[in-house]
Amino acid sequence: MKRACNGCGQHLGDADNRDVDNHGNLTDVRSECHNCRPLVELEAAGCKTFHLTLRTIARIDNLVDRDGHYAKGYFEAVDGKTTCVGLRIGTGEDRIVARYGDHLVRHPDGTWTVHQAPEKAS
Ligand SMILES: [Zn+2]
Repeated sequence: MKRACNGCGQHLGDADNRDVDNHGNLTDVRSECHNCRPLVELEAAGCKTFHLTLRTIARIDNLVDRDGHYAKGYFEAVDGKTTCVGLRIGTGEDRIVARYGDHLVRHPDGTWTVHQAPEKAS
């Protein structure tokens, strides 16, 4: 059995006993993942991290609004059709864009940054 990162799904080699706790639950192995370790460290520092997906975008949009930032869907032409591909926060030069699959990080001071998903191996 292969183990995958809880955060991004990247494979981390073969599964072993370390991946299951005493209750049989899968443990958080993100700190072993070189993409997700920074997220684990940010969480330890008091940040909140959110995985941006079609299911979470509305909730994250609300949270960003509540912090007083302007947020809206980020649109791009996909196969000739204008499609929402993520979330844009802020306006003008300072705006940040998170695509589906990326993580958004909310810092304790109410600022938001993007942690990009790893490049998909093609
Ligand atoms: Zn990961």
